[in-house]
Amino acid sequence: MLLMRVFVIYWLRYACLLSAGMLLGLAQAQPLPEPDPTFPVFESAANGPGRLDTGPRMGVLVDASRQLGIQDVMASRADWHTIDRRSPNFGFTPSAHWFRFQLHNPGREAVLRYIEMPISFIDHIHLFQHVGGSITQEYDTGDEKPFVQRPVVHQNFILPVQVQPGSNHFYIRLENAGTIEAPFRVWEPAVFQVANQREKLAQGMVIGTLLVMVLYNLFVYFGTRDKNYLYYISFALSYLMFQYSLTGYTYAYLWPDSVWWNSVTIPLFICTTEMTVALFTSSFLRVKGYSTWVHNVLRGLILGSGCMAVLSMVLPYNMAIRIGTGLAIPTAAFCLGLGYWRWWRGDSFARLFCVAWTSALIGVMVLTAGKFGIIPSNFWTENAGQIGILGLVVLLSFTLVDRINHDRSGRLEAQAAALAHERTARASQEALIAVKEEANRKLEQRVEERTLDLNSTLEQLQRANAQLQRLSVTDGLTQISNRASFDIAFLDEFKRALRHKTYLSLMLIDVDHFKQVNDTWGHPAGDACLQAFARLLQPRVHRAGDLLARYGGEEFVVLLGETGPADAAAMAESFRAAIEALVVAYEGQSLQFTASIGVACIVPHAQIAPQDLVASADRALYQAKQAGRNRVCVADV
Ligand code: GH3
Ligand code: MG
Ligand code: MG
Repeated sequence: MLLMRVFVIYWLRYACLLSAGMLLGLAQAQPLPEPDPTFPVFESAANGPGRLDTGPRMGVLVDASRQLGIQDVMASRADWHTIDRRSPNFGFTPSAHWFRFQLHNPGREAVLRYIEMPISFIDHIHLFQHVGGSITQEYDTGDEKPFVQRPVVHQNFILPVQVQPGSNHFYIRLENAGTIEAPFRVWEPAVFQVANQREKLAQGMVIGTLLVMVLYNLFVYFGTRDKNYLYYISFALSYLMFQYSLTGYTYAYLWPDSVWWNSVTIPLFICTTEMTVALFTSSFLRVKGYSTWVHNVLRGLILGSGCMAVLSMVLPYNMAIRIGTGLAIPTAAFCLGLGYWRWWRGDSFARLFCVAWTSALIGVMVLTAGKFGIIPSNFWTENAGQIGILGLVVLLSFTLVDRINHDRSGRLEAQAAALAHERTARASQEALIAVKEEANRKLEQRVEERTLDLNSTLEQLQRANAQLQRLSVTDGLTQISNRASFDIAFLDEFKRALRHKTYLSLMLIDVDHFKQVNDTWGHPAGDACLQAFARLLQPRVHRAGDLLARYGGEEFVVLLGETGPADAAAMAESFRAAIEALVVAYEGQSLQFTASIGVACIVPHAQIAPQDLVASADRALYQAKQAGRNRVCVADV
């Protein structure tokens, strides 16, 4: 976490300065013992490591007035002190700082050495080499001078010196609007070239990786239009610019002629980095809608760092850098805390976010611990910041992908839930349809049952009707047609005969002395005789249109269609004879009786009514009775 890095570096420096100040500057109170700290200079890398770090083993003189010259400090014995801290860092200070140390050349000839000042943002660096009572070499440089004026073209300050045989005293004056650090290194030139190449390669790889991540995520942004990628890219670029402004690479390669611009880039890119971190956090952790006050705090941080980015170009450097680094504390702490809060609250997509920033934070802490000598300084501790930040940028990219997966799985879960709901709804619908169908089936069954009942009732009714119909046209005793049935059939036959101009004959048959039958053998016996009479004649009246009916009491009528007088008379005679021959067995008795028959025949025409035919038959019957009964009389019509 770059903000953490800035925060830790600067605030630990503050803390060191403050604590040092409160301890009454114990170290500064101790005068530098004679002689100056001495470092042996080997003739070549083969005789030594080729690099020596002055570290804190130097004399320091603080010039609060910033007015002292080389002669003043050389003469001033009492104001030189040892450095009491483990790293030659002095934090933000307006005072000029003088450092001195000795290089001892045991050889017979002068050797070339590079004195490197690896802090690229120091405003003024003034070096004096004092050998044998005189100044033999002097450099006046710093980042307030155009880059091209540097003795060696390099992002750091490289000052070549000829180390003369014997003792060489070096006095270096540093003055800066920001912090003062003095981790000088003395290089054997060949070793420096090798180390320089290695460092350039490493830095190139870091820059290349960061740029690849920026380009890759830019393409992803074009594909997805997800704003998080834009914030991520802005952050990575801001950090890249901040980091390489801090290490002097931007001044060396991007704007070597722009002294003013170079002096504002560090606070400017600190602020843009803070702003983009807050923007990314706000957007990535979906703070809006989650918590209003958190959203407002983040908006405040974004607005504050944005304004500071603009103001850093007009405010004095020492003020801009203090406010910029000061904002780093709340921004870094708040964003990381927010990530852990969301993770703790169960939002798993915040998990990688926390891992990414924490890895960067650990990197910065390792770097700082190495710088302050808390842990042994080696390749890993020196590059822990870069490694941490690379890890951050790569992990954040994964974080974005992770969140897309998280969102997608959320969408898939929602889809699955919707599908499950739909399935449930469909199952309910099917159950409803099944219930409806069952209800319909039951209804149909009941309707069918009712229809069957109805049909059966209807059949019973029809049977009853038929029975009634039959009863209405049937004589109850003899089971032949009754008088009403005869009246209807007679009218029909009469009309038909009238239409076809054919004969219609009518016989009236009356049992002779039937009263005596009743009187002699009883009324039931009379009934039995009437039934036997009907059974006898019924089979003999079988042509279509012919009809035998009970006319009333013991009187019967026979209707014969298309039958002339002769045939009717013959038929009547055959009936009479059959009646005469009939013997009715009743309760051991044999009953016999006769009948008289009156016959009438006509071809109907307009002047004749149906009653006329009946009246004629009745007259003929009367004649038969008068003539002595048991005979047939045919009427003259
Ligand atoms: P005639 O030769 O002049 O016809 O003499 P008759 O006795 O038959 O004539 P009458 O008209 O005086 O008597 C008819 C009798 O028939 C009277 C009645 O008791 C009897 N009779 C009428 N209907 C029924 C019946 O359904 N059953 C019985 N057993 N007798 C009946
Ligand atoms: Mg009679
Ligand atoms: Mg009679």
